[in-house]
Amino acid sequence: MSGKKGPKNLKPDTLTVTAGREPAHFYGFVNPPVAHGSTVIYPTVAELRNENARYSYGRRGGPAHETLEMAIAAIEGGHGCRITPSGKAAVALAVFAAVKAGDHILIADNVYLPTRRFVDAILTRLGIEVTYFDPQMGAGIRQIMRPNTSLVVFESPGSLTFEVVDIPATTAAAHAGGALVIMDNTWASPYFCKPISHGVDLSVQAATKYVVGHSDAMLGAVTATEALWPSVNSVFSELGLCAGPDDAYLGQRGLRTMNVRLDRHMRSGLEMAEWLSARPEVAKVLHPALPSHPGHDLWKRDFSGASGLFSIILKPCPIEASDAMLNRLNLFGMGFSWGGYESLIVPFDPRKYRTATTWNETGQALRLHIGLEDTDDLKDDLAHGFAIMNRAAQ
Ligand SMILES: *Cc1c(COP(=O)(O)O)cnc(C)c1O
Repeated sequence: MSGKKGPKNLKPDTLTVTAGREPAHFYGFVNPPVAHGSTVIYPTVAELRNENARYSYGRRGGPAHETLEMAIAAIEGGHGCRITPSGKAAVALAVFAAVKAGDHILIADNVYLPTRRFVDAILTRLGIEVTYFDPQMGAGIRQIMRPNTSLVVFESPGSLTFEVVDIPATTAAAHAGGALVIMDNTWASPYFCKPISHGVDLSVQAATKYVVGHSDAMLGAVTATEALWPSVNSVFSELGLCAGPDDAYLGQRGLRTMNVRLDRHMRSGLEMAEWLSARPEVAKVLHPALPSHPGHDLWKRDFSGASGLFSIILKPCPIEASDAMLNRLNLFGMGFSWGGYESLIVPFDPRKYRTATTWNETGQALRLHIGLEDTDDLKDDLAHGFAIMNRAAQ
């Protein structure tokens, strides 16, 4: 849905509450109805023939989809937004909106692993050449662009390893070489970063994370500039990427409190990152809002906040010892995804998939999502885990 109807010039908190809402259209109810449906009945043949009908078929979305799309478009500052059944589908939609056979594309080496799998499994089969690049190259990507380079894809900070991309420099270099730019904005959410204002053409969200915010639905979103909107819309229609109405509803419901949740995720995340920095078991904390982080200045320039997701590198210890810690944590659940109200932790090893950069850390890497629990309890849980780890390492 094009976001043109969204309110203009409102502060972020007000926009979060108001964007996309049209109570008058729904009998005065504050929230949109959940329309379960395939067929939409037209009262007259003239309305059936009208290609601009507001709702025309279930696959094209109903009131809950439309509300969420208008709201995200307004908050991201884009022309329009399409929601998809998952974040992964949103990545695919954005990429397909920007490429054709014979193109060459550049993908940051630290992107979300399933994005990498989509590119390697599908795009290369369609005659699109892929080069992975060091996300910290900035304007240097111009040197590895070819005449047929049509797209540059990155996320900032990178999933798992948190390198911060110089968004305006990378984007300007891509545009100078004739390529479009997709940024995966899941980490910051549109509340803390507005990629389109930094020149990005398509901003992708795994709305599964902070938009939904309660670990109870899968959703994605692609927000486009006016120039890319027709292409996004066309691929969206032709692939039949319809999210279910209940999930779209949960997305727009979650969005209304996303700013409040994110402020707390940021505060607790930073507090935990600082606490972990002081722990003797921890070699490094990878959190862009810490002044010690190599991407801190870029983060400060381009983001207005930080979410609750960051990583740590443990000092080298036997894997059995760090595994013993992970097995005994109570509040930190071990599981993929993040962005819900609950804290999570997962071990990872970037050596397994990187091709353009090298990962030289020797200690076990762990990614943490700091939820909305009391940070004293979270510290106790980790301290207890570290004690188990230290005992197992002896
Ligand atoms: C989770 C995630 C995705 C994919 O979202 P799903 O809804 O799980 O498909 C894409 N990009 C990033 C950065 C993510 O963290």
